[in-house]
Amino acid sequence: MTKRVLITGAAGFLGSHLCDYFIEKEYRVVGMDNLITGDLDNISHLFGQKNFEFYHHDVSKFVHVPGEIDYILHFASPASPIDYLKIPIQTLKVGSLGTHNLLGLALEKNARILVASTSEVYGDPLVHPQTEDYWGNVNPIGPRGVYDEAKRFQEAITMAYHTYHQLETRIVRIFNTYGPRMRLNDGRVLPAFIGQALRGEDLTVFGNGSQTRSFCYVSDLVEGIYRLLMSDYSQPVNIGNPDEISILDFADEIVKLTGTKQKVVFKELPKDDPTQRQPDITRARKLLDWEPKINREEGLKITYDYFKSLPPDKLYRKEHNTFEGYVRQRMAK
Ligand code: UDP
Repeated sequence: MTKRVLITGAAGFLGSHLCDYFIEKEYRVVGMDNLITGDLDNISHLFGQKNFEFYHHDVSKFVHVPGEIDYILHFASPASPIDYLKIPIQTLKVGSLGTHNLLGLALEKNARILVASTSEVYGDPLVHPQTEDYWGNVNPIGPRGVYDEAKRFQEAITMAYHTYHQLETRIVRIFNTYGPRMRLNDGRVLPAFIGQALRGEDLTVFGNGSQTRSFCYVSDLVEGIYRLLMSDYSQPVNIGNPDEISILDFADEIVKLTGTKQKVVFKELPKDDPTQRQPDITRARKLLDWEPKINREEGLKITYDYFKSLPPDKLYRKEHNTFEGYVRQRMAK
């Protein structure tokens, strides 16, 4: 019998790529999403496929899925700093209560569960590059605290289920990832810069742009996640691309890529914005024989082509679709 996998956050950026990956590998996929930040357009191509089902559900509430489940991938969560500010309570709940519900479901179904953790557990890191044994430097009550602490709690409860219940668990610490299907208005730096270039607006660099990030193309990340899921390793593993760049240099790359005539303007640096971030991927290299394959030039080109192809309503949309709105729109077609 083909294996069945539950993917939460299925309509989001990473969740939708994971759905594609598992469908491609001929798994049966159950997608789940409450669509507060996800977009059904990301998975509409999967509707009607015999191996794909979708549940419109908030995993912070009790989760029930009939039938067997072999794997659970918990990817539901707001994932950008402006979302944490807009929906802080939901952000906390999905990482904590949502994770608890899914761990319970994994026990019930005797499934292996992989949870999406984040480089944000390292906060504004004092160790560079970040290795998995670094405990982090997080402000629990700052604007990012709702995400960072929910994810830290997620790791703690996942390890507790592993040690207390001998549940098969995996924890991936995801560093900045980019690619098609990011939400153009989610405030993250890549969609922000490309959206600005496409709309003919100036590119907004926060602070002086000396802060660094390391960007991983989505297909590399998905491959790393699959390898971790199939491994027998229950400690956290960093997955990311160590190619580090300052945000100012990144803005220059986007200016060149898009050919925009607009300028780079400087805005206030958000509170608790990490000054540096780069994954140490020694563990992933050794254990999973994994490393990223797509360089930034290649990945950015694919991503820009995707954003260029979007209809104008997505380019200028301030808020994302609701489930009801989406259904209305599909019915009208
Ligand atoms: N950033 C920026 N301009 C923007 C959006 C973001 O300069 O319009 C900066 C932001 O301050 C941060 C970096 O880009 O230093 C990455 O921000 P993002 O929100 O993408 O991710 P995170 O901070 O969570 O890594």
